[in-house]
Amino acid sequence: MANIILTYECVNRCPYCFAADIDKGERKSRLTREEFDFYVALLKRSGYRHVSLLGGEPFLHPDIGEFLDRLANDNEVRHVTIFTSGFVPAKYYTRLLDSRTGLVVNVNSPADYPAGQFSVLCGKLRELADRGAQMVLGYNIYREDFDYLPLVELASELGCRAFRWTVAKPAADRQTQCLRRPQVPQVIPRLLEFLQACRRAGLKPIMDCPLEPCLFSDEQLATFCRLSLRDISKMGCCPQAVDLGPGYRVLRCFTAASLTEQDCRKYNTIADILRHYDKTVETHRACAVAEPCRQCPHWISRDCVGGCLGETAPEVRQVERKMDQLPELLSRCNDLYRQQRRGELLDLLGSQVGEYPLPNLIVEYANALLRLGKNAEFTSVVQKYETVLRRFQLPRSAFLLAKYHALRGNASATLGFLRRAQNEVRANADDDFLVRLRKDGWRKEIGLMMREFESPR
Ligand code: SF4
Ligand code: SF4
Repeated sequence: MANIILTYECVNRCPYCFAADIDKGERKSRLTREEFDFYVALLKRSGYRHVSLLGGEPFLHPDIGEFLDRLANDNEVRHVTIFTSGFVPAKYYTRLLDSRTGLVVNVNSPADYPAGQFSVLCGKLRELADRGAQMVLGYNIYREDFDYLPLVELASELGCRAFRWTVAKPAADRQTQCLRRPQVPQVIPRLLEFLQACRRAGLKPIMDCPLEPCLFSDEQLATFCRLSLRDISKMGCCPQAVDLGPGYRVLRCFTAASLTEQDCRKYNTIADILRHYDKTVETHRACAVAEPCRQCPHWISRDCVGGCLGETAPEVRQVERKMDQLPELLSRCNDLYRQQRRGELLDLLGSQVGEYPLPNLIVEYANALLRLGKNAEFTSVVQKYETVLRRFQLPRSAFLLAKYHALRGNASATLGFLRRAQNEVRANADDDFLVRLRKDGWRKEIGLMMREFESPR
């Protein structure tokens, strides 16, 4: 999914909003026509036929009428979704009646609006619904005593089929109201009531941001999955989305704007942008998770990323810095190894594989221990970080795990990991470890495996 942010200006001041004031200061806050055309072309080139327009309030952009007309006349665009506060100027109503256009109306509990404004909003939405506009409501839960009932009733009255919702997350770069991780378990009972109310009203609940499975008891989790019509897979993962904004800025997520901002013109397709984020911020986030996550089956199986970037940004930044220093560190290690300064080498690596165990660093450290014949230390380091090595699935990690299992005499696990590390094994056919395996009576298995790797598919 990719959203085009038309403007950061808004009519509301929602207390949980990441976008409010994002561009205070010198930055411009409205998309130009050239940027809009650039983004639509980028989406089409990337195979996207669905365009989402976001704000702020997109209807505050003076050119939105023209943008909507262009999208309506573009045969390659199959659907347009507009995320709005619902305060849509009447002059745009007719443009919203096209069956290819839908609204996601971000609503708050009545008490969150200035006096009388909620009923004005309801009036507008009723009028749009009566004219046949397609819409769903979107709701951000940012306080423990959230008042969902009037909104579920409104959605039902408007004939909506779904109800989008999310638990508001913290923003890395500004103060917003939200529910932080320790607070979330307290709202789970109310959240389940809310989901039940949605289902009773015939509304399909759609969860936007992830909720980590460990926030629920087993019983709550089963009820949650039943009511929200989803299973646990990927429940703790962020959507694969990017936000394309004014100034050719692309963000992985609003909540961590400064951590993820890129110049969109460097990329040819959305897939290229997502690949960049996978290699950078997502990898750093995975390296930055806290110890309980590193042992968690949901993290190892990639069903949970271990928390929102808005909350983990400081740790992610530290990992980012460590990653930048990694090449220099590894070259220092090589020097120490060549100079046979083994004690210093192990001290250096051991001290670095500390708080944020980067997979490459663990592999380097464990390999150094093995090369120096410190098999017991090697085994204990791999044991300690085995979940990290499995989670990242790097060929180097698989090769290391093969060594670990060979030392423990587990032939099938060894061969399994060697197969996963094919390229690494091929590139290191004369690695001490493989040589030793051949000597230790593994000649036949290793020989067969190498031939298998080399035979054409
Ligand atoms: S990975 Fe971490 S945040 Fe996610 S469910 Fe496991 S312990 Fe919770
Ligand atoms: S980082 Fe993930 S959880 Fe946090 S706001 Fe963004 S999409 Fe939601």
